[in-house]
Order: sequence, then structure tokens, then C-alpha cells
Amino acid sequence: MRDKTICVKRPKVSADGFASLSTGVHRASTIVFDSAEDYANRAARGPDGYTYGLMGTPTTRALEAAITELEKASRTVLVPSGQAAVSLVFLSVLKPGDTVLVSESAYPPVIDFCEEYLKPRGIVHRLYDPTIGAGITDLFDDTVKLVWMESPGSTTMEVQDIPAIVSAAKSRGIYTGCDNTWATPLLFKPLQHGVDFSAMALTKYVGGHSDLLLGSVAVADYELFKHLKRILSLFGVTVSPDECSLALRGLETMGVRMAHSGRAALEFARNIRDIAGPGSVLHPALPECMGHDIWARDFKGASGVFTIVVPAAKKSRIDQLLTAAETFSIGASWGGTHSLFAPMTIKRAALQNTDQPIYLRVSIGLEDEADLWDDLVPIANAIAS
Ligand SMILES: *Cc1c(COP(=O)(O)O)cnc(C)c1O
Repeated sequence: MRDKTICVKRPKVSADGFASLSTGVHRASTIVFDSAEDYANRAARGPDGYTYGLMGTPTTRALEAAITELEKASRTVLVPSGQAAVSLVFLSVLKPGDTVLVSESAYPPVIDFCEEYLKPRGIVHRLYDPTIGAGITDLFDDTVKLVWMESPGSTTMEVQDIPAIVSAAKSRGIYTGCDNTWATPLLFKPLQHGVDFSAMALTKYVGGHSDLLLGSVAVADYELFKHLKRILSLFGVTVSPDECSLALRGLETMGVRMAHSGRAALEFARNIRDIAGPGSVLHPALPECMGHDIWARDFKGASGVFTIVVPAAKKSRIDQLLTAAETFSIGASWGGTHSLFAPMTIKRAALQNTDQPIYLRVSIGLEDEADLWDDLVPIANAIAS
């Protein structure tokens, strides 16, 4: 070969004996084939095979396989964000004329997606009370195709009776899906309760370092997997092997990170409640939290995210304390090593009164607990005073 060809083709090197503990980053758009016949028959490789970069590389497969095993799923698809995981499920199931029932406590951009994208296309969404349980049956009619759940709910933390909702939906042939970002499959496995689609923002605990965006959808039914893969391919949506490599690294420490953050968060939640009074903290492990008994029945534990309820009258004082915090940062997203505050207002109809509290979402990271408590104690005291 001549020099310019060598530059492009490169000499082959051996990987024999290279047994590494990490997954290589395989980047590809083109996949090459041994023969023209192989190329012509590439579709026969199926959705698990390698045919084009859009359909995955060994790096994306490694992350899919890990999530599949953790979720006790048949297959997992990866998407560029947690929001994309939810919208993919909705787009894969719903057609014009169909209805999706969405928990009022779902991640708010999901409700925006229904309102701003689905509704103009003739797909109806109806919000339901997250504590509805088996009562969901009363909302079913022939147009309902999907029930969307999130437990505990974003910010307001209501725990849903997923087994009751799933059993009601199954008897009517209605799909169910669940956003499992808070618990991750380490604390709750939706598919084992009969949920059809388990979605997760890998951005949070799996990534774990506030530096990547990814989402996953795990399914027990291989036909649903094929359908999801086909839709992703039609949309041209794929994920970067570099992001997947970071997520695989994050996943290795997720167990110890979550165990630490979960324990520290519960201790803080109890101590804040003891200072600021009952109702001041929303955490599923506190008996007064809505759905606490269901959480104790279905979940293996708590992760490191909970909410402090700040009365409207205390808002400006709390804003000062958030700005003054030394260790916590202020920002959206959570599940990383850095502890975060996110002051939220809730748009729900039932909560539209003039004295709307501020819901201060707290994500506990890996800093020294004494430093975190120094930031939290003045907040608890301000609410109590
Ligand atoms: C953050 C979050 C999402 C969205 O994840 P992104 O990767 O930021 O799009 C979805 N659901 C829940 C419960 C979340 O907290």
C-alpha cells in the first residue's frame, strides 16, 4: 500500500491479551460488511445486530445490557435525555383520537409535551390524582391507550399504587408506563409489577456527575422493543457512545452513591421536620408523606431527593438563605455528587391558591454531611420561626 492509503486504512493491530475492566468507546456511522451479499442481507441482523451507527455500537449495547439486567427487562433502548424517553413512549403508543392519562405529579415538561405537541395533533391527555390507585378504572373509556405514572411524583413526592393501576389497566388492555428516575431499578423495578414501559433519566443517578444527558426505556415485551427501535430509526434518534461510556462509569458507583445519599437525605429530612414541624418535609419514608405505606410495601429504600415545603410568607427569607448557602448550589437536575437546591412552584389546579408554598427540592450529594447541615439548619429554623 502507498502512504496515503496507509494513512486511511492503518495497519491492523492485535487486541489479543487486552483484557480490560472498562468498556471501549466504539464510534461509528458506517458498519462494514464482508461481502456485497452480507450488505444486501443486513436487515436480517435484526434490531440487536450492527448495521449502521444509528442502530447502536458495542458501547451503547453494553449500557443497554446493564440496564436490561437491572430492570429485569427483555430489552432497553437509549435516547438522548430523560424527557426523550417519556416522549418516545407516548409517540410509540398514541395515535390521533387516543387518550393518555398522566399523573398530575409527573415531571412537568411531560405535561407540557402533551399540551403543546400531542394536543394540536388530536391526542388527548387527562391529568389524574397520583393517589387514585384502583380508582383509575373510572377514567377508562375506549380511547384510553396509555396510563403514565411517576412514583414518587416530581417535587410533590406522592407515592403511587402502581400494582393497583397496572392491574386495572391490564384488564382493559391499556398500556402502562412509569418514570423510575427517582428510585432507579436499585430501589424499584416497575416491570416486575407488570408495567409495560420503564423510563429513566440516566442524566440523574446513573450518570451521577451532572455532566451528561441520556434516557432509557426498558420493556419486558420483545415486540414493544422492536417497535421502539423502529420509531427511533425513523426519527433518526440515537445516542453518542461517549455519553454511554460516561454513563457506564457512573453506573459502577451508583450503588454506593445512592446508599450514601439516601441515608443522609433521610436523616436531614427527619431533622428538618423535627425543627420546622409536621408537613414541612415531603419524603416517602416519613409516615405523613402521601403514599408512605405503599412506598414501604413496594420500594427497597429511598434515594437522596426530597422536598421542603416553604410557606409563601417565608419566601424572601428562604431565597436569601439559598443564595447564602456555602455548600449547596442552586440548579435543576439532580442525582449528582454536588448537593442542589431547586425552588419550585407547582402549577396544579388544586394548588392554585394565593398562598402557594414554594417547594424546595433538595438533592443530597457526597459532600461532608456537617457542611450540608450548616446550610440546611437556618432554612429549617426560618420555617419554624
Ligand atoms: C430530570 C427528569 C427527567 C428528564 O431528564 P432529562 O435527561 O433532564 O431530560 C424526567 N423525569 C424525571 C422524573 C426527572 O427528574
